Amino acid sequence: MTSSVIQPGDIGEVAVIGLGLMGSGIAELIARSGRRVDAIEINQSFLDQGMARLHASLDKAVSRGKLTDTARDEILARIRPTDDVSAGVADADLVIEAIPERIELKKALFAQLDEACRADAILATNTSSLSVTEIAGGTRYPARVAGLHFFNPAPVMKLVEVISTVLTPPEIAETLALLSRDLGKTPVGVSDRAGFIVNALLLPYLNHAVHLLETAQATREDIDKAATAGLGLPMGPLTLLDLIGLDTCLAVLETLQDEFGGTRYVHAPLLRKLCDAKLFGRKSGRGFYDYRRQSTVADHELAPVPGEVALIRERDGRLDELASQITAAGIGVVPQPSDETGLVIVAADPRHRVLDAALAAGHPAEVVGVHFAAAGNAKPGLAELVLPDVTAAGTAAKAAALAARIGLNAVVSRDRPGFLIEALAYAQFNDAVRMFQDGYASPADIDTAMMLGCGYPRGPLQMLDEAGAANVVGVLEAMHAATGDPAFTPVPLLAEYATAGNLFRAGAEG
Ligand code: NAD
Repeated sequence: MTSSVIQPGDIGEVAVIGLGLMGSGIAELIARSGRRVDAIEINQSFLDQGMARLHASLDKAVSRGKLTDTARDEILARIRPTDDVSAGVADADLVIEAIPERIELKKALFAQLDEACRADAILATNTSSLSVTEIAGGTRYPARVAGLHFFNPAPVMKLVEVISTVLTPPEIAETLALLSRDLGKTPVGVSDRAGFIVNALLLPYLNHAVHLLETAQATREDIDKAATAGLGLPMGPLTLLDLIGLDTCLAVLETLQDEFGGTRYVHAPLLRKLCDAKLFGRKSGRGFYDYRRQSTVADHELAPVPGEVALIRERDGRLDELASQITAAGIGVVPQPSDETGLVIVAADPRHRVLDAALAAGHPAEVVGVHFAAAGNAKPGLAELVLPDVTAAGTAAKAAALAARIGLNAVVSRDRPGFLIEALAYAQFNDAVRMFQDGYASPADIDTAMMLGCGYPRGPLQMLDEAGAANVVGVLEAMHAATGDPAFTPVPLLAEYATAGNLFRAGAEG
């Protein structure tokens, strides 16, 4: 390879290989930037499908008034479709590979590119989790191979992870970062490690949600609602798993498990079972949800609202507002349960079992714990109704009826530390701190990556600061004690920050 590295301004022609979900979007994005694109598929039939997807996307932009007919025609004129890889890449300054996530396919393709590309061309892979170093290792000029990881849909999502191997010269990473900016993206540079930033944080969180579902912690709807209404995320984890594809998620978890070991990436058995049954999510019509028919939300009858509720107040006034809401709805509120009381409400703390408060209240079968989300939530308002296992069968229904009567947005959780919102969020915050502690990425890059790659309203470390490191450590320790799972042990740096009262995003805008 020649010593001079192509400058971003010199990248006039880009070959995109594989016009599937990602490649067609990447080809569109690059052609929109004024560059010529060689759009390459494995055969004419896949080429037609890929180009049809690209045409449809541009037509949609025209029909929405975001693109003129002339601009669409100019973009299409810059795209040269071909099913001949060698001819397609011959003049390219940059090649972006977006073929399926299988190492043997990628290695075979890169060996072919070695022969067919110009010696000074940069070769980039869009892999989500495979080793860029291994892909590069099979080529004659491994130093020119890097990762350029776009997010789905590529024309829309703002993040690009630029991945350098130990052999990548800084100039190549710099060229790819500048090109990403020119495409309107925000690049984040990282070294070659399984899952890079986003998938290494996202996949264990998604897997954790599957564990919560299969251990009957909550319904699938409530697990998803905890993430959307409780954390402000654009989509719940089970819906997101269905969107990405359960088979893809399983493959990425396996790569993470191979690289990092431990318990955090061991896939939930239910994930494997759904994959074995070919229930891959949206693309196969069914995953955690069924997409083949319009879901009809059963209008189940609510239980009668209790006439009197005992509300055991805390000195800190946490339940005062709830008491006023219940009274305003015409329901009697008493400070201690009597034989007339239909429901006993106690304040639930994600670090402690509600069971102990339920036993102390004297009527454990009628007890429900209430906890208001505080995990970095912009609009507090989601209540977690927490049910100890000794609760009578009808208590959950009475609590749900009461919540509906007073207009309380609520989810129901079993009595396990962290309940739903903190369990999901704090375990991910711990992973994010570990990533910073390991020297892999800065807190600002971690937060940027999760905001631009996954649509988080604020990054996990910003949310951790808002929740308070000491509080997060307390909940994680309780989760660890209850499950014995070492993955929930607070990482040393988090414990240090909690002790010192430090912020991970000091100076970041709230
Ligand atoms: P896809 O299955 O939709 O598309 C892959 C395309 O590559 C297919 O059209 C196939 O015909 C074509 N192909 C296969 N072998 C080829 C070859 N030798 N030459 C030319 N074309 C070939 O897959 P996808 O979801 O677009 O994923 C592609 C890559 O992008 C994977 O590495 C994946 O991990 C990564 N990625 C996917 C997503 C996502 O959300 N799907 C997000 C980011 C990155």
